[in-house]
Amino acid sequence: MTAAFSNDVFMVGKARITRLAETEMQVPASALFKGHWPPQVPLEPVVGLSVEGDNTIVTLSVQSWLIQTPTDTVILDTGIGNDKSRPGNDAMDGLDTPYLDRLSAAGVAPEDVDHVLITHVHPDHIGWNTRLVEGQWQPSFPNARYHFSRQGYEAWCADAGRAQMVADSLQPVVDHDQASLYDSSTRFEPIAGFEVVPTPGHSPDHCSVLVESDGERALFSGDLMHHHIQVAHPEWNSMFCADLQQAEAARRWALAFAAEQALLWFSAHFAGSRVGRVHRDEGGFHWEFVEPRLDA
Ligand SMILES: [Zn+2]
Repeated sequence: MTAAFSNDVFMVGKARITRLAETEMQVPASALFKGHWPPQVPLEPVVGLSVEGDNTIVTLSVQSWLIQTPTDTVILDTGIGNDKSRPGNDAMDGLDTPYLDRLSAAGVAPEDVDHVLITHVHPDHIGWNTRLVEGQWQPSFPNARYHFSRQGYEAWCADAGRAQMVADSLQPVVDHDQASLYDSSTRFEPIAGFEVVPTPGHSPDHCSVLVESDGERALFSGDLMHHHIQVAHPEWNSMFCADLQQAEAARRWALAFAAEQALLWFSAHFAGSRVGRVHRDEGGFHWEFVEPRLDA
């Protein structure tokens, strides 16, 4: 352990879940929630929303979730990554963050990671798949199986606009024979206790991940939502949603399931603790943050 970082830790049964923070992005609410913003009823102050002049700015966090079960060390989604060339995207271009130091602070070396599980092939979820070593993109986790969707991979391979991202974040994993391409249209269990559940809409290949340990459950929701305000407004799609009807349907399914199961919800982009529970009453769905303990 190093003392350089304190990582947020949550427990789900015997699974120890650590947030590996990477960065934050800022997006105007009027753009993110186009067509829904401003809300008809003025809001009380909300975590992750700040007012700057005439604009409300949404803060989106970017992180990985490190999930350690008694048998497996898993990283769920891999953020933006360092040194990636992302022209025209200031939030992602040429990052230099101490992400691997945070992993080290959690007591995990890159060689210790058994599985990398990707909810969907987007640039803020695949970046740390690789790192730049002597001018070459190499898998960051040399002993891991990388699970990402065949549909997402093939769609990007056929899209010249994604060639750079394929070359720096996906293809090196395939070329090192570490990729396990999965079918994102069907539920399956790539790792004991981990179930990939298709929740398309945000992107065609978008999946969520259910984790079960010792009778307790967690849902890793990927980009079903970008801010917890959407829990109370499941009809709010974001500017990033590819298929609006599918995205809303997937969001409503996950919210109902989360409330019924009283499971712990791990978001990809919420501010605050990023983690919480969903409650349901006659007024709809409500979000309650759950606070971590610090990994000292
Ligand atoms: Zn995302």
